[in-house]
Amino acid sequence: MLEIDGLDVHYDGVHALRGLSLSVAEGEIVALLGNNGAGKTTTLSAISGLVRPSGGTVAFQGDDITRRRPHRITAAGLVHVPEGRKIFSTLSVHENLQLGGYLVRDQVELRRRVERVYELLPRMAERRAQHGGTLSGGEQQMLAIGRALVTGPKLLLLDEPSMGLAPLIVAQIMDLIRDINTDGTSVLLVEQNAAAALKIAHRGYVLESGACVLDGPAASLREEPKVVEAYLGGT
Ligand code: ATP
Repeated sequence: MLEIDGLDVHYDGVHALRGLSLSVAEGEIVALLGNNGAGKTTTLSAISGLVRPSGGTVAFQGDDITRRRPHRITAAGLVHVPEGRKIFSTLSVHENLQLGGYLVRDQVELRRRVERVYELLPRMAERRAQHGGTLSGGEQQMLAIGRALVTGPKLLLLDEPSMGLAPLIVAQIMDLIRDINTDGTSVLLVEQNAAAALKIAHRGYVLESGACVLDGPAASLREEPKVVEAYLGGT
């Protein structure tokens, strides 16, 4: 459903993506792995229209979206959850979720989507009146993902959802991503935590200096000596 072909991104003087090609098929969780500065965030930003590529193409469900405006890309069902849980801290959990539905005109449909998020995330239902800023880090991440779900994604772009969270909470976030996928949403998951990501992903790509150096089924990547050494803490 997503096809990236030969993508190049330049920032002033920095060649951040160098002819990157990757794909996500319908129903897949695909992990995008790599160290700091490898180009993972840039890849997601180029897909969702936040940065303009200097070369290459991004196609979503057969349509070329390379130079489309971000809100139109979101409306097409490609929803980006950026790094750092950008929730509205002075609004309640419920209000945050409703804001995810700003493109949804049908109020009955909006209510249905918010209720579905509460089913997936009972903890958010318990805290629906609480201000976003008073939630724990893990809960804020869940709320950020929940808000994206209300938008109605076909493909969810997640940028480092495990960042700064304790292992137990990371496991809960990964379970949530798996549940969302089982529910019918495809996922492109950017992670520095390769071990957590490769547990739930079907396939993965490893990025170094803006280019893909390895890709394959998650089970093969977990065994790959280079991945074990560089990303899974092995020797
Ligand atoms: P991280 O996990 O640290 O976010 P990343 O793999 O997501 O790393 P990117 O943030 O995509 O990497 O950065 C790729 C390269 O582009 C890096 O060299 C970074 O310094 C550079 N870069 C990213 N954003 C900008 C920007 N707005 N202006 C200039 N250079 C940038």
